[in-house]
Amino acid sequence: MNPLRPLILAAAGNDTIRQAVATLPGGRTLVSRFVAGETTADAVRTVRELAGDGLHATLDYLGEDTHDKDQAEVTVLAYLELLDALHGAGLSDRAEVSVKLSAVGQLLSDRLALDNAWRICAAAEQCGTTLTLDMEDHRTTTGTLDVLEELRHTWPSAGAVLQSYLHRTERDARKLATAGSRVRLCKGAYAEPAEVAFGDGHDVDLSYVRCANALLEGGAYPMFATHDPRLVELVGERARWYGRQPGEFEYQMLYGIRPDEQRRLAEAGHVVRVYVPYGEQWYGYLMRRLAERPANTAFFLHALVSR
Ligand code: FAD
Repeated sequence: MNPLRPLILAAAGNDTIRQAVATLPGGRTLVSRFVAGETTADAVRTVRELAGDGLHATLDYLGEDTHDKDQAEVTVLAYLELLDALHGAGLSDRAEVSVKLSAVGQLLSDRLALDNAWRICAAAEQCGTTLTLDMEDHRTTTGTLDVLEELRHTWPSAGAVLQSYLHRTERDARKLATAGSRVRLCKGAYAEPAEVAFGDGHDVDLSYVRCANALLEGGAYPMFATHDPRLVELVGERARWYGRQPGEFEYQMLYGIRPDEQRRLAEAGHVVRVYVPYGEQWYGYLMRRLAERPANTAFFLHALVSR
């Protein structure tokens, strides 16, 4: 694990550091490595480029943790505009959307978050695509899975995310492992306390494989979100063992991370979906990516001071 992870995650909430990243010489280059741009047009252009490489996308309009109803509405409208633009560009079959409930009102009320997620689901279906609810810190897990359950009564293709670092996740994976249930499995990106999460990377990996087995065995459509070469190999083997063909599960990776591997897997016939963040609120997202890896921290410091 990156020894600077706690420090960087703490800086994710610091506005002075955000200003510095935005204004220092290499800041823009750094942001553009991981973030597709600020506008709907940037997002659509990126989906088109990825599609040219045989890749799919899931789009995240950046922003989270809003306490402001108007800001939640801005986020919903951004997704509606995006879905419309994707449809207009003939790219709906290439892209779905990823939504953080905290960006659409979860901190104000579960009801508001559900209503807003509902509107995005409805627009997505009209455009021939769907939505996945991102998973945030462990205090929101139950609430997010409850919203998912409500959505799925009407929009069965709505997807969820499970984080293998949480002790509870194997149980959640068994519950969500029903035919066709779309579940993204990731390790988890938040700083979580030892009471709820595995602290050791090996335990997180073992949990990842147990959850993958549960999803495959129960007939879910697993979306394996990891850049970890060992896990990519392992879940591929597990999928084959369960008789899954390419297309009956997918790999997911983040925009800007291991792009060669993304293309290699797609060329081998797999569905590969790239998580594409865009929008003006890129700072918290960028900080979580930097916290994941010492090499990224070095890259960050170098980029900030170079032109
Ligand atoms: P790691 O053990 O972090 O990395 C394994 C290897 O992958 C590294 O050695 C390196 O070679 C490569 N690598 C990993 N990260 C980077 C990086 N930042 N830069 C360069 N190389 C890297 N987390 C949530 O909590 N909620 C979500 O909803 C969520 N959605 C996600 C969606 C997608 C599509 C993906 C790919 C991740 C998502 N995550 C989410 C983040 C996830 O939980 C992890 O924090 C992140 O993917 C890093 O874990 P890893 O499995 O790649 O393995």
